[in-house]
Order: sequence, then structure tokens, then C-alpha cells
Amino acid sequence: MDFSRLVSYYERLEATTKRLEMRDILTELFAEAEPREASRIAYLTLGELYPAYVGVELGMAEKLAIRALKMVTGIDEGKIEESLRKTGDLGLVAEKLLSSKKTQMTLSLEPLTVERVYSQLERIAKFTGEGAMEMKVKTLSGLLAQASPKEAKYLIRLVTGNMRMGVADMTLIDALAALKGGGKEEIERAYNLCSDIGLVASTVKEHGVEGVAKIGLRVGIPVRPMLAERLTSAQEILEKLGNTGFAEYKYDGERMQIHKADSELMIFSRRQENITSQFPDVVEMCRRGLAAREAIVECEAVAYDPETGDMLPFQELMHRRRKYDVEKAAQLYPVSLFFFDALYIDGEPLIDLPLLERRKRLSQVLESSDNFRLTEGIMVSDPDSLDRFMLKAVEEGCEGVMVKDISPKSIYRAGARGWLWIKYKRSYVSKLTDTLDLVVVGAFYGKGRRSGRIGTLLMAVYDDEADVFRTVCKVGTGFKDEDLEHLTQTLTPLAQKQKPARVESIMEPDIWTRPEMVLEIVGDEITLSPIHTCGWGAIRSDAGLAVRFPRFTGRYRSDKSPEDATTVNEIIELYKSQLKVIAGGGEGEPT
Ligand code: AMP
Repeated sequence: MDFSRLVSYYERLEATTKRLEMRDILTELFAEAEPREASRIAYLTLGELYPAYVGVELGMAEKLAIRALKMVTGIDEGKIEESLRKTGDLGLVAEKLLSSKKTQMTLSLEPLTVERVYSQLERIAKFTGEGAMEMKVKTLSGLLAQASPKEAKYLIRLVTGNMRMGVADMTLIDALAALKGGGKEEIERAYNLCSDIGLVASTVKEHGVEGVAKIGLRVGIPVRPMLAERLTSAQEILEKLGNTGFAEYKYDGERMQIHKADSELMIFSRRQENITSQFPDVVEMCRRGLAAREAIVECEAVAYDPETGDMLPFQELMHRRRKYDVEKAAQLYPVSLFFFDALYIDGEPLIDLPLLERRKRLSQVLESSDNFRLTEGIMVSDPDSLDRFMLKAVEEGCEGVMVKDISPKSIYRAGARGWLWIKYKRSYVSKLTDTLDLVVVGAFYGKGRRSGRIGTLLMAVYDDEADVFRTVCKVGTGFKDEDLEHLTQTLTPLAQKQKPARVESIMEPDIWTRPEMVLEIVGDEITLSPIHTCGWGAIRSDAGLAVRFPRFTGRYRSDKSPEDATTVNEIIELYKSQLKVIAGGGEGEPT
């Protein structure tokens, strides 16, 4: 197919925002294309060259594209940049420049074909290393020299990653189904399993819907992930699931789809990018801990503090999103893996099995340890136990829970958001901005580098009515080495085996300490908690209140006596003031 033909379709697509019209235009376009062209066209129309997992992207810097335009038109870069500032679209600028220059140019007007454009764009995307920029510019200018003004517009938009036509992968699928007069389900399923719109398009063209139905799972090719719907009350969730479901912690990390084929391991992100090289530690953990020759399994990777073992908020994982110093980052910001699904194990696709069967298979191939295991989960059939489980999850640093269908129809529905999984999150509340002054009432010994020394403290607030100290959080973050040294030295003499009389606690630390030392702490928010005694029964009959994600600010409040510390009532007030800012209430409302 000539590129000008494709461009005429693009012009039509650009002129409409109606999805149905777009679908019809694309159906016509696919009808005209050969199978191989259909695949190229599918990628190009989405502004891509390959499926995401290949990891090669278009997206040439505008500066380089401007240099290519200068080579072809002879017009100064400054002038081109100025037009770009005015229009905001380098494609339009290219179209205009080429229209006005056209008559003066002596060009070999052999028409560009889709195949040639695609292969040249591939070259542009793949040049690396020394001289790569020059080669990119030269190749692009070669294409532009052969292009009509309209073709130049789309060439520039393609290379710079600005297609702007608003065509989504699902519109392409609709168009392919319309072309065959049906089969949307099969086509969509194939796409969800192979994540490759080009392969789907060429298969539909060449082998029809029956051919596409044969596309299945393959180790090494990411599956589009199953997604969850959301509800905001335990009761609604259980009603939706027919009164029983399997509730799992919803960990606050990054989803990973792990593919194992013998000793080869690949990690794909939720968006099907290959992120293997960023996580050498995960590769090693899976090599050792996945007892299957071949597998596709899913887990949530969560950052944890190596010195306390506590889970850390999602933002900490951002340190792992890097190309350099990957090994060092893996040591500084280690992750735990919590597995929640198995899609394929040793030759057998599992996606059509019900959830609990898949989980059983998963458990059989996991050689579990603290940092490598199944998600925490329980069967629930009444709203109270679901709520209690939710509180426990939040208390341990999770975002909430995922409640999953367990009926025979609870398959792994690739690429779909549906009611087989329902997320139940703590509504996001405003950050605590005030610092709190909390009293140390106990301590835990550290792990790893901190072993033998105190690593985490059990903190309490003062109940001025009962004259006791009630626990409100554990804190292990924010301490420098010298703080831990100082704390070990100061707290050891205060240590006692028995819980001090004035301390009310459910949690048992390694050592108890007389409530004397006051530290300044910041946290993210106040949450309900089944294991801290601060404000027990004040909001909910079976829960207290806790500070979520507490951190030591570095200030020892030796100017304060423990009785001057933050009080239980202040924490209750803080909790209530947070509720007021949650639009529409939701989880955490007093019952
Ligand atoms: P959301 O991103 O809010 O739509 O929630 C879905 C995400 O929660 C998934 O993509 C996973 O990354 C994550 N997740 C955490 N824990 C679980 C779990 N137990 N089961 C499924 N997904 C989980």
C-alpha cells in the first residue's frame, strides 16, 4: 500500500471524534491491507512500531526532527522553531514548509510505501551509540525528501511520538471484528493474551477469526493484566460476590508478571514493559523460589525497610526505576514479593480455572520465605470480618484489600476490569501535617545491619483521663545510625521484662521501657487499627487508632515529660477532622 493511501485514511480519522466513524474508517483501511501491512498499520496508527514488551519506541526528539526538516527545506532551525511555538505541532509545520518549498525542490518522486516508511522508522528507532543522532536525522530527511506535504505531516508526528488521532487499541479490535462480521470476543481475548495488536491484525487478515482464536499464552510474552472494580463498603462487596469471597491484602507496590522458562526469567510491568534489568534481585529470588520449569505468575513487589522489615509506601519503589546503579538500588531499597495469581505452570494454562484452584497451584510452586510468599488472605462471608481484615491490612502498611470471586466462573480474565476482583481501599485522606510527640514504651531489635541493636520503637500517647499510656504506632523509620546507638544506650537501662503498669498495649515488644522518653514523629494520617489501644472503642467498638507510616523527625523532646505528650483525645480529634475532608465518607466512617 502506498503511504499516501494510509495518509488519506489518517486525514479522515483526524476529522472525526466519533468512535463508530473511526471504527468504520479503520475497517475500510484493514480491508485494503495485506496481512503484513495490516500489522504495520495497526502499530503505526497507535503511534508505535512494536508491542510495548519489545521496548523499542519511536519518540525522536523534536530538535532532531527540526534538523531533518532543515536539511530538506534549507530553512533555518530558528524559523522552524518559531513556527512550532506558534502552532504547537511540528507535523503541521512540516506540512506547511514542504508545501511552500515543493516547487523549488527537485525530488525523485517514487511514491513512499507503508513498508518503506515502517522499515525506515525501525532504523531510526534502533540507531544507538556514537553517531546515532546523525543517522536518525539523515534517515528521516531521506524519508521527508520523498514525501508529499501531507505525508510529511504524519511522518513527523510518527517519529516524534505525537500521533494525536485518538485511536485506541480497542477501536482497532472493533474494526477487525467488523471486517470479519463478528468474532470480537475471540479477537479481544487473543489480544489480551499476546499483547500484540500487530500480530492480532495480521492473523485476522490471514487466518480469520478461527486463526486468531488459536493465539494463546506464551512464556516470554506478557499477558494483559486482569483488573479490579471498586466498591466502598464491605456489605456491598459481599452482596456483589454472592455473600462469600476471598479477601487478600492489597499491597501498595508495583505489579509484576513473572515469566520463567528454565533459567531464563523475565519481569513485565502492568503496562507490559520488560523491566527485568531493573530488578536483578527479583530475578534471583524467582530463580531460587519458583519451583517450576516454566511459569507465568503475578505478584506485587513492595519496598521494605531492611532494618525493621516494615513495608514502605509505594513512593519508595520509585528509587528502583532506573537504568544505572541497579544493583546498589536493589540493596538500598529491597523488595518483598507477594504472589496472588498463576496463569501458566509447566505446560498447563491455568487462566480458565477458578481462583482458589489457581491459588493452590501457585502455592505448590512457591518456596516461601518472609519476603517471597503468597498474599495474606482469608475467606470472608460477613462484613464485620471483612472490615477487621481491612484494618489489619492497613495497619501493616497495605492500601486496603482485594476481595475476589471464588465461584466456578472466577477465571483469570486477562485485560479486563470486572467484578471478579473488587478493591476495597481506605479512602484517601488528607496528610497529617502536624507533628506528634509520642512516648517510647517498648522496643524491637533490628534485623540485618541493625541486628543486636534497637531498630524499632513502640510509641504511645498519653490518656490524661485514665493516666495511662496507650500505644499508637511502631516507628522504625527516620533514625540515623547515631540515633539507634543513642536509643540503645538510653533505653537499655529503662528496659523491663514486664509491661509497665501504666502502659496499655496489645502488641508485645522485645523489651518494655518505662514511659519516659518523648520523640517527635510525623505520619501520613490516623487510621483505625485493631492492634493499637489509643482511642479504643471511641470510633469503633473493636478498634483503636494508629498513626500510619510514622517517621522520626530527628527531634528528641527531652523538654517534655511523658505527661506532656500528645493525648488520646487529640488523636481522636485528628481522626475526626480527617473524616470531614473525605468527600462522601467511605471506609473508616464510624459505625
Ligand atoms: P488499582 O491499581 O487500584 O486498580 O488496583 C489493582 C492493583 O492492585 C493490581 O494491579 C496490583 O498491582 C495490586 N495488588 C495488590 N495486592 C493485590 C492482590 N492481593 N491481588 C491483586 N492485585 C493486587
